[in-house]
Amino acid sequence: LARAKVIRPVVRSFAAGFQTEAGLHVRAGGHAVVWTSPNRARLVFRKPTPGHEEDLGLWSLLDMGKTSWKAVSRGPLHGLATSPIPRDCIDLVKERIVRDSVHRSATRTMRLDCQACAACCRKNRVELLDVDLARFRRAGRMDLARPPYVRRDGKKLVLRLLESKDCRHLMADKRCGVYELRPDACRTFPAGSEGCLFSREEELGIVDGARD
Ligand code: SF4
Ligand code: SF4
Repeated sequence: LARAKVIRPVVRSFAAGFQTEAGLHVRAGGHAVVWTSPNRARLVFRKPTPGHEEDLGLWSLLDMGKTSWKAVSRGPLHGLATSPIPRDCIDLVKERIVRDSVHRSATRTMRLDCQACAACCRKNRVELLDVDLARFRRAGRMDLARPPYVRRDGKKLVLRLLESKDCRHLMADKRCGVYELRPDACRTFPAGSEGCLFSREEELGIVDGARD
């Protein structure tokens, strides 16, 4: 992804009695954290479009180690997607709320340049899928499925990192050395997702909202 404009949801906190407001926020493109007690909350977001792997609601769940959600069947949140927030992610979600509190609207616009960033190409865990192996095979590059490029993690094959924690395919100019053949995990990782913002903060010290 070259320089791109990303419109991403603003994460906002709502007490249980403010579900109508939470619903309006989500329908306008935001993500709502609806609290039922000080340490129990659920994430509410728009229902992902089937087949749209870059949906930022889904990636917000993935960042909490979850993949499943349910559609709300009645009340002000009717028709929206929801998922309980795991206990060990409550602090994480509180940080997202503070981070986004500087934005007034339900969404915010970011300008991201993956080619000048590459934060998510460090300290990551990229699993190779059958589709990736097939891509390597078609290109005559099955060496990419062997050491030193990969390691075994149980039954999974994952890309190896350098000692510096950079992906072995990351070049000095921050470009991917196997861009045309990069694994699906790299292709579908969306700029502007929670995982992207986390990487940028961890690796580059860029706190979304504070500096860009
Ligand atoms: S962290 Fe985000 S902006 Fe940076 S390269 Fe990855 S997807 Fe692009
Ligand atoms: S394969 Fe390329 S896009 Fe994927 S993590 Fe490595 S350098 Fe980044």
